[in-house]
Amino acid sequence: MKYWKKYSKEKLIQRIDEALESTVDFQNSKYLGYPVSKLDENVFNTSGAFLNDSPLLKSFIANPNNIGCHTLGKSEEAFKGSQELEKEVLKVLAIDIFKSKEDAFDGYIATGGTEANIQALWIYRNHFKKAYKASLNEMVILSSEDTHYSVHKGSNLLSVDAVSIPVDFNSREIIVDELEAIVKNLVSEGKKYFMVISNMATTMFGSVDNPDVYAEVLTKFNTIFKIHVDGAFGGFIYPISNRNSTINFENPNVSSITIDAHKMLQAPYGTGVFLCRKGLIENVLTKEAQYVDGMDLTMVGSRSGANAIAVWMILFSYGYYGWFERINTLLLRTEWFCNQLNQLNIEYFRDPFMNIVTLKSEFVPEAIAHKYGLVPETHNGNNKWYKVIMMSHVEIEDLLKFINELKKS
Ligand SMILES: *Cc1c(COP(=O)(O)O)cnc(C)c1O
Repeated sequence: MKYWKKYSKEKLIQRIDEALESTVDFQNSKYLGYPVSKLDENVFNTSGAFLNDSPLLKSFIANPNNIGCHTLGKSEEAFKGSQELEKEVLKVLAIDIFKSKEDAFDGYIATGGTEANIQALWIYRNHFKKAYKASLNEMVILSSEDTHYSVHKGSNLLSVDAVSIPVDFNSREIIVDELEAIVKNLVSEGKKYFMVISNMATTMFGSVDNPDVYAEVLTKFNTIFKIHVDGAFGGFIYPISNRNSTINFENPNVSSITIDAHKMLQAPYGTGVFLCRKGLIENVLTKEAQYVDGMDLTMVGSRSGANAIAVWMILFSYGYYGWFERINTLLLRTEWFCNQLNQLNIEYFRDPFMNIVTLKSEFVPEAIAHKYGLVPETHNGNNKWYKVIMMSHVEIEDLLKFINELKKS
């Protein structure tokens, strides 16, 4: 781990104070032209000794705007400090976790996984247009049937068809024969340019797609394709629990990745990370963004610098080893839970590197599922699965109560 270190509380506070000092000070400065300010002191409690120990609250009050993308070209001068911390977050993710080479990636902290996934599709749509003069009809989005619905939002917004690939009911793996048949058919219909969303842990099952399976089939049919990994849920777990994972930037099939900080990392909402290889993000340059100093390469405009600081704080409070231990605690609980289910002969799906266990609904009476807040696969009848996610608040004591009730039923 080159960048992912653990800092003391004092150091964290000091770095954040420095970052905020280099952010434009609206009270004492001559910035007359910025339509921005710190939080309204007539409304919010913006001063007091309590802020000394609350660097995140201080950041929210200072309200820096991390607008734009800071891995490429120039950036707004006024918010250097929080942009710098964002860049450190991106380095930890791109280089330490997802094995990019130095300076070989671009990215930013988006509003969430939805935006990051759509940003990827937007980039690829424009890339296919620019590089191959592709028409919308010649493009198609592929993903498994367990893929997050943000992909369908992207398809709708970008006017590119989306096709779902069936998965095996028990293993949740893409059915390769079906994938082949679908691609073959799409090619015969005139589709030439494929954008794939490959899951690094689906929302419902925690199942992980193998992007190489897509690459193999798409190469076999001589198509042009780009693969985006949706690690919105699994991005802070899977690459850490599975040290041999090849789903990262060392894999030439992987072009971009989504990672949400507001799920497993428990950051404030509005912290999804988008990462891609160099040379791609320029495809979504908005030339008309003239009042922004630097290139506007992001879907969202203004965005919270305090959110970037929050992610930075979490990463550098734990450090790699601290996070590794935390993940392992959750995986131990998951293992314990699976052992209990095995003893009860209850059928479930679980990826061995993930903290989600999805139970077949026939083994869980609806009332118990409801009582324990299990999430069904679908809310409109015919539900076949319920999931349990081992988060930090889901302790063995809680799981035990659930198991005992299942035993009784
Ligand atoms: C949650 C999730 C998303 C969407 O993320 P938001 O941050 O809610 O926009 C996308 N993909 C997967 C796999 C997710 O779990």
